[in-house]
Amino acid sequence: MNNLDEIYYVFSLKNHTYIIEVSVQRAIMTDWTSSMELAGSDPEWKSTLCEILSQADWSVEITPVVDKLKNGERLTLQDGMILFNHKDLFELGRLATSSKKSRFGDNVFFNSNVHINQTNVCVLSCKFCAFSRTKRSKDAYSLSVEQYLSELEKYASRIDEVHSVGGLHPDWDVEYYCELFSSIKERFPSISIKALTAVEIKHLCKISNLPIEELYSRLIDAGLGSLPGGGAEILNDDIRDKICYGKETSQEYIDIHREAHKAGIPSNCTMLFGTIESLEDRLNHMIQLRNLADETSMFQCFVPYPFLPDSTRLPEAQLSTANETLRTIAISRLMLDNIPHIKAYRMNIGDYLTELALNFGADDVDGTVGRESIMHLAGATSSLDYDKYQLGKLISDAGCIPVIRDTKYENFSPYIIKSPQRPRRLKVINTEG
Ligand code: SF4
Repeated sequence: MNNLDEIYYVFSLKNHTYIIEVSVQRAIMTDWTSSMELAGSDPEWKSTLCEILSQADWSVEITPVVDKLKNGERLTLQDGMILFNHKDLFELGRLATSSKKSRFGDNVFFNSNVHINQTNVCVLSCKFCAFSRTKRSKDAYSLSVEQYLSELEKYASRIDEVHSVGGLHPDWDVEYYCELFSSIKERFPSISIKALTAVEIKHLCKISNLPIEELYSRLIDAGLGSLPGGGAEILNDDIRDKICYGKETSQEYIDIHREAHKAGIPSNCTMLFGTIESLEDRLNHMIQLRNLADETSMFQCFVPYPFLPDSTRLPEAQLSTANETLRTIAISRLMLDNIPHIKAYRMNIGDYLTELALNFGADDVDGTVGRESIMHLAGATSSLDYDKYQLGKLISDAGCIPVIRDTKYENFSPYIIKSPQRPRRLKVINTEG
């Protein structure tokens, strides 16, 4: 096989991103590795942030917040409210991008993955959920281990992570999951298993009559690698009672993740916004996650995503606009100084908003995603089964440098974009716009 490729190489110089077309040897995996706590961040990012912020002018309204960031101080709920109410969205984006750049430069991370939802049968009926079914529903499904493996096999040669969450099945206990995970590992040993939301963990403890430490121990032995962090919704119990009655409480969400971290399982954490919460609720949510990250340093990534409406679910939802979604992503970056990655959840916000989010503090894009059901049943129209070229192009079109990562953000490899079929006219992008 010829190992020379016509490629576009993307680099930044003096606020411009240049794309040059050259023939080079195909990219080789590097030894660029990282600890879990840094997860690819520059260890000196706080002093770099101070330098970046000092070189720019900032409006009077946000100068007190900028000064805190320059001094390496943590933002409070009141600071977060100043940012939510700041009129200049693009200045907020510039501030969040400064923080992102101080950690990761222009790099933006993605991986090759697939989402397989093992069952849509669920004993709960959260108001925002378009996915769950009762056992008797005509379109209820529950994949046997063999059915699951056949589905995974379709994607296995081109992914390194399977993301698996589903309903709370009334009959499946820890045995199903141990058999599933060990069978995945046996047949596809290089695929990492990122699976189970906090409420699924709670349900499995209950149905299997196991303390959480033992449940985690058995799941780790079977092959579980990390938790995807879903199900946080908004960490406010009054709101949870209204939108997802019966789910784990806010404290249980935190405790379930704390126990996972103690057991050595890293996790993501999430936030569903645009239902009935206030802006203060969003900030309180971030602060609770930040407090746990202070204890464990094992949250890898924060994934904020808006509620996708239809005419039947949660008609009282206040629904996030594009402006508000970008603002929430930017503020997440600034509030969560101890969670390294902020994800633009392409499955939910779509490709166009994802590109913009990469200039509002996000540094990670949820992956090639061979298939996905939960967001698509809720109305998402994002493309599935992207190849690396398409994702790399999305990232470089946003003025950033695509980098492939593994599930645990420990190994990274710059992704060099091969020439597209048709030559592009645009060769230089002014990122200062
Ligand atoms: Fe069940 Fe999860 Fe849907 Fe709630 S969000 S109904 S727990 S599948």
